[in-house]
Amino acid sequence: MHIDTLSGEEPPSGYQVGWLKKFHSAGRGFWAEVPEADWNNWRWQLQHRITTLNQLQRFMPSLTPEEHAGTQLANHKLALAITPYFFNLIDPADENCPIRRQVIPRIEETHTASWEMSDPCGEDSHSPVPGLVHRYPDRVLFLVTDRCAAYCRYCTRSRLVSNAAGYDFHPRFDAQIAYIRDHSEVRDVLLSGGDPLLFSDEKLEHLLSELRAIPHVEFLRIGTRIPIFLPQRITPGLCAMLKKYHPLFISIHANHPRELTTEVRDALGRLADAGIPLGNQSVLLKHVNDDAEVMKVHMQKLLMCRVKPYYIYQCDLIAGSAHLRSSVRKGLEIMEKLRGHTTGYAVPTYVIDAPGGGGKVPLSPEYVLCRNAGRVLIRNYEGKVFEYPEAGDGTPLVEAPRKIEEPELVKF
Ligand code: SF4
Repeated sequence: MHIDTLSGEEPPSGYQVGWLKKFHSAGRGFWAEVPEADWNNWRWQLQHRITTLNQLQRFMPSLTPEEHAGTQLANHKLALAITPYFFNLIDPADENCPIRRQVIPRIEETHTASWEMSDPCGEDSHSPVPGLVHRYPDRVLFLVTDRCAAYCRYCTRSRLVSNAAGYDFHPRFDAQIAYIRDHSEVRDVLLSGGDPLLFSDEKLEHLLSELRAIPHVEFLRIGTRIPIFLPQRITPGLCAMLKKYHPLFISIHANHPRELTTEVRDALGRLADAGIPLGNQSVLLKHVNDDAEVMKVHMQKLLMCRVKPYYIYQCDLIAGSAHLRSSVRKGLEIMEKLRGHTTGYAVPTYVIDAPGGGGKVPLSPEYVLCRNAGRVLIRNYEGKVFEYPEAGDGTPLVEAPRKIEEPELVKF
């Protein structure tokens, strides 16, 4: 049985729910001799990332042929990079380790279908200036970099992220900020990339202060996976800087309860203590988190980290991601097993980003069975049916509803 190299604890076979629910340290693994100050230094972590096949083989001789072949090709598609901290979460004895599947390339990434795309959310066609996406009426996506601490094999922006595919992303902050300044309808700016928290505190503060100086920008957001890949980056200095720019929200990206370590919990606590509301976005991934019990534990554990589960995304139709995509049926089944079965705060919205640029479309199991003049028939999480009286035009009834002869129930 694999020993958890980080914490020295021995996880039970199959990582039962009880073990997943607890917080474990990622430990030191192969880096046990590294001084504590280096290990906890985010720049040291970045400098010592695993980025080549040779390094990966050295730390993980158990690479499968699919992983070996995929890693050889990775630097022509989406680069390989894994921080030592995050690498320690991989179970080298488990080919289907949910952490491993997210960051180690596989040859299946070269298998593409005609309906897959390089830009599944149609961002490039909604980009008035390089690095700025204006798809919704009152908010913009402000891409600040093409670099991340580690690279997710299903990344929806893999066309530009890591620059392995030759996109040559060159945002022009002055043009992006000028566009926002000139569009008074933009009240919400989401900084993303790549990962904005890879910037130094000074560089990030410069951007935040420029945006905060625009009177119609009410609300700033940062999308980041750094608290998960590199919790060492969430320093007291960073938190003190961020709290000057409220209202500022942060959306993190965690997919599996094993990603929520003691290190991550502490880093998220520092952000929460700086008054930053935290939300999480998970991507539904095959053999990673497409399991109702695992997802429920994950959502509950996020709340314990003071993070509100915000979205579960159906995996975008990014080219070469079929081996990681789970089905919409599975997503709906998971939502059915969350709603009512656990705290409402633990239930995110399940969405598909409509292929080609249609924006987020929420998906939900059907709870309205029938609507007709006089009533709405609904069912609860246990399948029990209830009637809510309401006039045909939606106004509350002042008299008892007339008898309805044929309230045809929709089967679910
Ligand atoms: S952290 Fe986000 S932007 Fe970076 S590779 Fe992962 S999904 Fe893509």
